[in-house]
Amino acid sequence: MNTKRHLRGIAAIVGCITFTSAALAAQEVNLYSERQPFLISPLLKAFTDDSGIKVNMVYINKGMQERLKSEAANSPADAVLTSDIGNLHNLVKAGLVQPVTSRILETNIPSQYRHPDGLWYGLTMRARIIYAHKQRVKPGEINSYEDLAGPHMKNRVCVRSGKHMYNISLLASVVANKGEAGAEQWAKGLKANLGRKPQGNDRAQVKAVFEGVCDVALGNTYYMGKMATNEKSPEQKDWAAAVNVIFPNQGDRGTHVNISGGAVTKSAKNKDNAILLLEFLSSAQAQKIYAELNFEYPVKAGVKRHPLVASWGDFKADQTNLAKIAEQRTTASKIMDKVAFNN
Ligand code: FE
Repeated sequence: MNTKRHLRGIAAIVGCITFTSAALAAQEVNLYSERQPFLISPLLKAFTDDSGIKVNMVYINKGMQERLKSEAANSPADAVLTSDIGNLHNLVKAGLVQPVTSRILETNIPSQYRHPDGLWYGLTMRARIIYAHKQRVKPGEINSYEDLAGPHMKNRVCVRSGKHMYNISLLASVVANKGEAGAEQWAKGLKANLGRKPQGNDRAQVKAVFEGVCDVALGNTYYMGKMATNEKSPEQKDWAAAVNVIFPNQGDRGTHVNISGGAVTKSAKNKDNAILLLEFLSSAQAQKIYAELNFEYPVKAGVKRHPLVASWGDFKADQTNLAKIAEQRTTASKIMDKVAFNN
């Protein structure tokens, strides 16, 4: 009897040890990130310090979707981080991500910045704003995206490629709000006002405004922060200093806001850890790091913005769910072709 109990005791201890080492071995998560290491590494370090879960990150500059597709069920990736709703939407369409339910994510992230079925979650926000030359654009001349297509803006607008995902998302938001015909009319009007053929990135448009090629440009908010504080290329500080930041459509639907976000892959073998990682990235601690390092807007309410970002003031954002906007991306892309935006 005594021996039996003794043996059972030993078995229990051995079982415990086996379980613990198995659990320890599983304490990792594999992440594919389109977002740059300078930004993501400090966040992952904080997550590991906090949770004990090791993150194996692969930085994928381009071709995340193709890679996940070819790896299929054998993909080591448990979670992905991307910028722009377009990339997240494409992963959903390709069936590469799975739904996640999390009270923490639902509490931290406003509903318009997460997929209704939990297929992706927004982690930071960026507004697509108008950069207006401080002298050459008079107060009140530009208050909305629609104003960019007005007759008074002839030859005064600079924009990057109409096919770039940032502009497709913006146009998709116009489709969602004003219908296809209204969006096409806007795209046509915008094209008619371009001061030069679409070219370069968002910062190149602000440079063009600084140089007098155009008076206004479209761009994402965080680039203003990156230019205004750029010690490596200090000439960018002059570009930023030449323009005012205008949040369009404050009188009606609000400014188009895009996200960077994350999702759990369909192939995830460490699903629980992947969810813990996304939850951490939505926490106040991580949101603060995002805000400080990349001039993005925290999705979590109450987290402080970078002082420079805060200096641009509060604004009203378009409340349409980004999943709904993303559904209009194909139409938006068609419109850009139809109006031959880049030619
Ligand atoms: Fe960008």
